[in-house]
Amino acid sequence: MTTHTVNGVTLLLKQGNIVNVQVDAIVNAANAGLAGGGGVDGAIHRAAGPTVMQECRQIGRCPTGSAVATGAGNLPARYIFHAVGPIYQNQGDEPQLLAGAYQACLNLAEHHQIHSIAFPSISTGAYGYPLHLAAPIALQTVITHLQRPTSLQQVHFILFDQRTLQAYQKALQQLLTNG
Ligand code: ADP
Repeated sequence: MTTHTVNGVTLLLKQGNIVNVQVDAIVNAANAGLAGGGGVDGAIHRAAGPTVMQECRQIGRCPTGSAVATGAGNLPARYIFHAVGPIYQNQGDEPQLLAGAYQACLNLAEHHQIHSIAFPSISTGAYGYPLHLAAPIALQTVITHLQRPTSLQQVHFILFDQRTLQAYQKALQQLLTNG
């Protein structure tokens, strides 16, 4: 585990399963149809129970690079923010869309005035975003957001395997070294 403080806010990088994390909002790496899937999406819906999928069906869709909020069902959280990252196809717009997915969650956090949020590594599983490119975008978007006044006190990155944790640790170190 790595912890770092940004402007008084704790940033944690930790290996684990996001469904077990006690925070106000858990972020899901969803798809644009909010239809459920494998990976972290499947794990979150299984653990949360059917009410969350019912809410997703009512919302309908979420554009890539954005996020929508639902309740958290049986999870120990108040909200799930369903963020849609890009499928990595090297078309050029992926960095903005990935940053947009994180930023949309941070905006929802401010809207709901929550204190803690947990992110998975959006787009780096089935969506194929290279980890060494995605990790600095994720971290930079959060760090930039935390330079302004915020309701957040803790931001967790819950990284499923050691390879992903190490990529985020390396990216954080490089961001802190190079400003
Ligand atoms: P995407 O389609 O956005 O790539 P995936 O769920 O396929 O989403 O993968 C995103 C990341 O989430 C990957 O690093 C994957 O290992 C990780 N992951 C899978 N299950 C969990 C979980 N329960 N908690 C946290 N991260 C998870």
